[in-house]
Amino acid sequence: MDIQAILSQLSFAAENPRKMLEEQLAQGKKVVGCFPSYTPEELVDAAGMVPFGVWGAQMEPYLAKKYLPVFACPILQSSLEMGLSGKLDGLSAVVIPTLCDTFRCITQDWLAGVPHIPMIPVSYPQNRTDAGIRFLRSEFAVVKGKLEEVCGHPITDEDIKKSIRVYNEHTAVMREFTAVANEHLDIIDPVMRHHVMKSAWFMPKAEHTRLMRELVTALKATQPTCFKGRRVLLSGIAAEPDSLLQILTDNNVAVVGDDLAQESRQYTAPIPEGQGDPLLRLAGKWRGQLCSLAHDEGKGRVDMLVDMANVTSADGMIFCQMKFCDPEEYDYPLISRALKEIGVPTLCLEVDQQPGSTEQIRTRLQTFAEMLG
Ligand code: SF4
Repeated sequence: MDIQAILSQLSFAAENPRKMLEEQLAQGKKVVGCFPSYTPEELVDAAGMVPFGVWGAQMEPYLAKKYLPVFACPILQSSLEMGLSGKLDGLSAVVIPTLCDTFRCITQDWLAGVPHIPMIPVSYPQNRTDAGIRFLRSEFAVVKGKLEEVCGHPITDEDIKKSIRVYNEHTAVMREFTAVANEHLDIIDPVMRHHVMKSAWFMPKAEHTRLMRELVTALKATQPTCFKGRRVLLSGIAAEPDSLLQILTDNNVAVVGDDLAQESRQYTAPIPEGQGDPLLRLAGKWRGQLCSLAHDEGKGRVDMLVDMANVTSADGMIFCQMKFCDPEEYDYPLISRALKEIGVPTLCLEVDQQPGSTEQIRTRLQTFAEMLG
């Protein structure tokens, strides 16, 4: 397949999650909704079911307002709205990690409002020492038991080990893609980069890995281009809608790296290799995760972004601040100060999922692009 054919398949998946869900259901597969960000998808895959990302949608929530305060973040408002309005019907279950206060509310809202789709909660410990990781292993054992009820058969250690291999291969190819994409910023513009990364949530991982391998091979076989515009990093939970990213292209700005929870952040820490207890290995990934949702006194995320800015020769960084997301708000001042110290300016943009005009964002992005030179 040529590059454009692969990209159009990935774009289709990113833009049509419901159709992707229906495709899996038509093949007789069971599909399990995985709320962001660190749901143990590997257990769903090990059960022979298909993990399916639930990242909300661009919509005005109405039904969810009965359950959530207006200051709940748009991702969870629209995700709950999708559940309440039947847009997620067909899912055999959803797994919700209680990573922040809004997540904690939504588990109960889901039980009350969407009783026809079973909900499996999973608590992540903020203590990430050995004791915390053992606790998380016990949580995963409960999730595994509940998934066994959904799929109707036991999930063996061998099944989990196989899925860990699939996910580690996927992580490796996604990291390879983000590196090679920077040699082809004419083909992989900000919208296309986002589609490639987002598509991973709506396809079985082995299938996505195969397509990504083809894409990476095809890009490597193509003559690199020298991009003459400005290069930025993106950080935050998600950089959406596409119209926001299109403004970057309109202003000759490329994305050369990201730390978005929806995109690269999930690929920063591979699942520890080894032959030991697979549930403990799976839990071990949480130990090294750099994220606003994981307690980290050293704030390794800040250093990671400084390194990323140096490695990618970024001219600036855009922080996509999801509206009402407290955990991310706490990290921005630290990130902004550290990047400023190495001469990388930052812009904090509020990101919403409710449809509205992007003209104010356009003006801010145009000004930022001009400031970068
Ligand atoms: S981390 Fe932020 S965006 Fe994610 S659910 Fe919590 S408040 Fe919403």
